[in-house]
Amino acid sequence: MSDSAAQNFTPPIDALSSAGAATLMRRLVLDYMRPHLWRIILALLLMAVAAASTAMTAQLLDPAIKFLFLEKRPDMLVLIPLAVVAVMVLKAAASYGENIQMNYVGQRIVSDIQIRMFEHLMKADTSWLRQYHSGKIISHFLNDAVLMREAVSRSLTGFGKDLLTLLLLIGVMVYQDAVMTGIAVIILPVVVGFVRQLSRLMRKSVNRGMQETGNLSTLLSETLAGSRVVKAYGQENHEIRRVTQSINRRMDFIMRGVRARSAAAPITEALTGVAIAATIYYAGVRAQSENMEINHFAAFLGAAMLAYQPLKSLATLSTALQEGLAAAARSFSVMDVKPAITDAPGATPLRVQQGRIHFEDVHFSYGDDDEALRGITMEIAPGQTVALVGPSGAGKSTLLNLLARFYDVSSGRVTIDGADIRKVTIASLRNAMALVTQEPFLFDDTVRANIAYGRPEADSKDVEEAARAADAHEFIMSLPQGYLTIVGEAGMRLSGGQRQRLAVARAMLKNAPILLLDEATSSLDTDSERQVQGSLARLRQGRTSLVIAHRLSTIIDADRIYVIVDGRIVESGSHRQLLAKDGVYAGLCRSQFDDAEISGEAGTRAARAPLTAV
Ligand code: ATP
Repeated sequence: MSDSAAQNFTPPIDALSSAGAATLMRRLVLDYMRPHLWRIILALLLMAVAAASTAMTAQLLDPAIKFLFLEKRPDMLVLIPLAVVAVMVLKAAASYGENIQMNYVGQRIVSDIQIRMFEHLMKADTSWLRQYHSGKIISHFLNDAVLMREAVSRSLTGFGKDLLTLLLLIGVMVYQDAVMTGIAVIILPVVVGFVRQLSRLMRKSVNRGMQETGNLSTLLSETLAGSRVVKAYGQENHEIRRVTQSINRRMDFIMRGVRARSAAAPITEALTGVAIAATIYYAGVRAQSENMEINHFAAFLGAAMLAYQPLKSLATLSTALQEGLAAAARSFSVMDVKPAITDAPGATPLRVQQGRIHFEDVHFSYGDDDEALRGITMEIAPGQTVALVGPSGAGKSTLLNLLARFYDVSSGRVTIDGADIRKVTIASLRNAMALVTQEPFLFDDTVRANIAYGRPEADSKDVEEAARAADAHEFIMSLPQGYLTIVGEAGMRLSGGQRQRLAVARAMLKNAPILLLDEATSSLDTDSERQVQGSLARLRQGRTSLVIAHRLSTIIDADRIYVIVDGRIVESGSHRQLLAKDGVYAGLCRSQFDDAEISGEAGTRAARAPLTAV
């Protein structure tokens, strides 16, 4: 991942130089429009038919006046209205077909961009995703693709229909009276000048508006997710104020854009009016001095008036294009981020035979100068449970992050059964591990689907077996629809302990040889904790387990305990060995248990020890 690409997630206000715009447009056309070339060609042909019909409508005024009013020919009485109907029906049919085709292409482009963006987000590095609030990403995900579709379909319609209609109408005007046409089109450069000015204003307000939409989305998802905290601290009005300010700021930017965009149409309209007035004046003067035929003038005027609509569309096209290109710049900057953590060339699948894990002089920093791990060497024998303890920020979670390759080591290496984890495929590495975290994540789906998340093909019997092993079967059966109960957003309809037991069942079912437990029970009350501990103990059987615990009572039975302070291992050994050493670990224990619990059977009573963060 390159930093510059990450910073470009929201491009700077004036990022779109015309060269940049051309590159973006080319990419949009080549990557997203080319697959729909035939539909686009069909739509363009239909647009050409619609454009020709519009020009024909104006041109028909000429014979209508000449034959019906000047020459008063009865044979034309039916023929001309019939021709008008035929032209209008043709135009309507072509417009309908073109609209359907263009909308299909537009919607397909939105969908294709969103699918590609989501693929990128799913494969992006954890470090990259952590830089942005999910609210901001979602806002861009939903809005940008729509803006790009607007730009694509407006440009196609602009060039395929509006420009062609305008040119054909100018053709009719020239055919009717070349000098008068010359007078009328003098306004065109003036229109272009105004439009350019307005586009510049638009670009600024659109970008600011999009940034504010991202902020708003962040605020909304934050306040909804944290609604209990908001209420508990009585901050409802504060949050309402913050969201109101953001909504008002967003509206302000949108209105600036609307003012610029709305100015384009009336300016074009006024200038068209001036042009038409000038031609009427010219026609009037000519009619007084020489013979100016009314049928030519009527057809000319009809064409000039019909030209207003496509001219207006073309004038506002550039503003839509600005919005779309700014959105394209943002989306492509997401798609261009190459994940740093990928399969190495020639990576082979990891085959865990024993499950021996080895950290060899591992150093790691999250990007700043400060190292989170400063030379960790640690060996975990197959089937053993190793516990990591230490103060907050010591680097315990970082070790798990490195083992699962959410991040890569800065130096040193991590091996599993002798294989460097950077040389095996990521899928096989993560498949060999089950992770149970402090806040287990449940999807808003059925209990069954949540347990089977890592093995969707598992049958009901396996799911139930995993749930029984995790002590979850009973409570699941007491839910209204048993295994088919929907758990609610992030499992909100379940208690903390129930959620955790579902997470354990999920890990059971995955049946991975390596187990990572990141403070899996520290957020539970002691009763739920005891239940979850029982299921975790079963889960650990026969697996190599790496356990982070804040409550030391939960890891007293670990085969080996590593005490980590400030990114370094300062002590290691069994609970008893470390107590005998009377060092950091013994001190940590004293702060959590009373003496009897430390030296005696530390099992059940210790599990009820007060919650003291280490
Ligand atoms: P705790 O017990 O509080 O969870 P920990 O021992 O698990 O702490 P880590 O989460 O591994 O500690 O963090 C180690 C250090 O790395 C800390 O100084 C922390 O501030 C820093 N750190 C953790 N995650 C990130 C991140 N994504 N970006 C930058 N620094 C980070």
